[in-house]
Amino acid sequence: MEKKKSSNQKKRRRRRRKQRELILKASLVGVLLIILAVILVLAFRGGKDKTQTADKDSGKKQEQQQEDSEAAEEEQKEKQRQLLMAQADLQAAQYDYDAAMATLNSIEGAAEDEEIQQKLTQIQQTKDSCTPVNMNEVTHIFYHSLVVDPEKGFAGNDSIAAGFKQWMTTVDEFNKITQSMYDKGYVMVSLHDLVEQTVDADGTVHFKPATIMLPPGKKAYVLSLDDLCYYHSYDNRGIASKIVLDENGKPTCEYIQSDGTVVTGPYDCVPLMDAFVEQHPDASYRGAKGIIALTGYNGILGYRTDGVYNTAVPEEDPEHFFLSSDQQKWLDEHPDFNWDEECAEAKKVADAMKADGWEFASHTWGHQHVADISYDKLVRDTERWAKYVAPLVGGTDTIIFAHGQDLTSGPDYTPDNEKFSYLKSQGFNFYCNVDSTQYWLKIEDNYLRMGRRNLDGYRLWQDAHGTESKTSDLFDAREVLDPRRTDVPDL
Ligand SMILES: [Zn+2]
Repeated sequence: MEKKKSSNQKKRRRRRRKQRELILKASLVGVLLIILAVILVLAFRGGKDKTQTADKDSGKKQEQQQEDSEAAEEEQKEKQRQLLMAQADLQAAQYDYDAAMATLNSIEGAAEDEEIQQKLTQIQQTKDSCTPVNMNEVTHIFYHSLVVDPEKGFAGNDSIAAGFKQWMTTVDEFNKITQSMYDKGYVMVSLHDLVEQTVDADGTVHFKPATIMLPPGKKAYVLSLDDLCYYHSYDNRGIASKIVLDENGKPTCEYIQSDGTVVTGPYDCVPLMDAFVEQHPDASYRGAKGIIALTGYNGILGYRTDGVYNTAVPEEDPEHFFLSSDQQKWLDEHPDFNWDEECAEAKKVADAMKADGWEFASHTWGHQHVADISYDKLVRDTERWAKYVAPLVGGTDTIIFAHGQDLTSGPDYTPDNEKFSYLKSQGFNFYCNVDSTQYWLKIEDNYLRMGRRNLDGYRLWQDAHGTESKTSDLFDAREVLDPRRTDVPDL
């Protein structure tokens, strides 16, 4: 009995132990599950919080970006406004009032912009004050290349020195004349501004006098520059050696100093006039500059572009020309010369000059006496200009005769004038000679003819020392004449 009792007790104790173990296990699992659940909840919550913060951050960023881009847009708009205002100022200063007003009106919000409205009123008032230029009172002046160093330019007693003293103007004289003419109200217009041109279907050109409107006190004049080729004969004469482009792609000059060093700067009319117009925009009508008369026999603008320098042309080729001694010397001194590259460079410079308002004309290829040479010689000469100069300057409709000659001494070019008929057939419609009278302009249906006044050493000397001045409408020759001039000998 006692044994039975004790085995039963044992069984019960075992069972209880098992139960306790089970409860322990179960509670352990429960606790683990709770911990897991807490972890999950926390993790979920944490994730949610993070997303919310990120969302908040990106919202702020977007707002900032929006603000930034709006500010940038505003700044861009203001920049554009300033740019267009400056453009309109330039257009108005250069007498293109309609273009100036159109520019101002193109600015966003122009109608509500007080400053713009004020400007528009001012421009309209100036426009209303303008009167048409009397076409019979447009003068035309011309220069050759300027003498930078008179000590070299006027040195010696030979015919070259005499020529320089007669035909050339010094840099100082040019600057004084330009300032004086500006002070007197002279405004540079293009030769092409003088006519209204229409063209028939068959290409026939018709001219009518144009209307140029200028404010009171302003007078129109045309500028031309002859022989801007920097001939070999100018070497060591204190004149620029070529036109080159500066670091901004604008035309400037190369000048070789006495010690052989090469410098660049405004050593001739082109960059000097460009700088003057930049400072005085109202010196030019709608950006017009001068017209440049080029021969071809030594190349153009200081570049040796004539066919004669193209040593690749064989001697038996009819295009082969014999080199003059100075041309041969130049080629000998430049063994790396490449004719094609030279032409490309000259064209680049001519393009930059045209973009700046300059125009080009023929001065005949060989600086011909157009009245004296035969018809055949004129044809050959014109063909050579068309072949070696026209492609570099984009062709021209203007011929500025050399030696001051003309196709006739009479008042009109008549159809029986065969040199005129030939030049017309080659597309020349503008013809200029030399005439020191104040005004000499003829506008016919089929051509324009204009006389030009030489503002050179000869003229300045005569006007400074003579009893009457032919240039007093433009400047005081006594003030302009370079004191470094000692005489003007006959040629
Ligand atoms: Zn000439």
